[in-house]
Amino acid sequence: MIIFKYADQLARYIQQQKAAQKQIGFVPTMGALHNGHIALIDRSKQDTAVTVCSIFVNPTQFNNATDYQLYPNTIEPDIMKLEAAGCDALFLPSIAEMYPQGTAGLEHYDLGYLETLLEGKFRPGHFQGVCQVMFRLLTMVQPHKLFMGQKDYQQCMVVSRLLQLMQSATELITCPTLREPDGLAMSSRNMRLSLHDRQIATTIYKCLTTIKQECNKGITWPVIKEKAEQLLTGAGFIIDYVELADATTLQPAHATMATIYQGPRVALIAAFLHEVRLIDNILV
Ligand code: AMP
Repeated sequence: MIIFKYADQLARYIQQQKAAQKQIGFVPTMGALHNGHIALIDRSKQDTAVTVCSIFVNPTQFNNATDYQLYPNTIEPDIMKLEAAGCDALFLPSIAEMYPQGTAGLEHYDLGYLETLLEGKFRPGHFQGVCQVMFRLLTMVQPHKLFMGQKDYQQCMVVSRLLQLMQSATELITCPTLREPDGLAMSSRNMRLSLHDRQIATTIYKCLTTIKQECNKGITWPVIKEKAEQLLTGAGFIIDYVELADATTLQPAHATMATIYQGPRVALIAAFLHEVRLIDNILV
């Protein structure tokens, strides 16, 4: 695996690969890699000839300074995991390489209502930061295919919107969420959970599977939601949201959506366990 720290060197490598008619797959990450990330690398290797991964903890997408400071950094094991997975190139830029003019007064993207709900509502500015870094990465890598995880459901929708705004030909492939054997969605933030909280954390997935079952039984959403919220608060979570939404627009469920709405839906949860914020979702 070749490691690039500078965008111009990466761009030269990509140009060479494209000149040799090779399709480029791209997996952007913030490091602290787990098998969920590696599943994206595997999918990219299946679908494309050259897989490029990036590791960059993007300061502009953190709306909480402590969360940014405590974000895990495990670069050496990360490189070993990527080597073992057969990743072809790793882009490892510095903040100055990504934001040569600094991070103040950056561009704004028109994300419409997507930015006003769920993660957008509870993490103001987060999706602007995601777009700022993704715009730069996509411009540098110019991949044929971009692989992202369903775990960050709304982020996939935001990036899809960004690709539209950029009039990009890159195809976004959303890949399934990888879970621990007890159902907890793999996440770099799981490393920050105490042993005790790691056990409790499975409550989120239990709630999501219960929500799915109850929606399919025709129970109304307010009843389902209240039960899920009680389960989470009882386990010690501080809830940001428990929502049921249209899977294609993310518009929230109205009172009876669980019973009369026939289209695809997604149940989404975001909650804090002590200072660690966890998110997950399930298609209903
Ligand atoms: P992150 O490093 O958290 O920014 O995530 C990088 C990419 O990996 C994003 O596209 C995430 O959605 C994806 N990802 C994170 N966790 C998982 C998981 N458990 N399963 C599949 N993809 C994931």
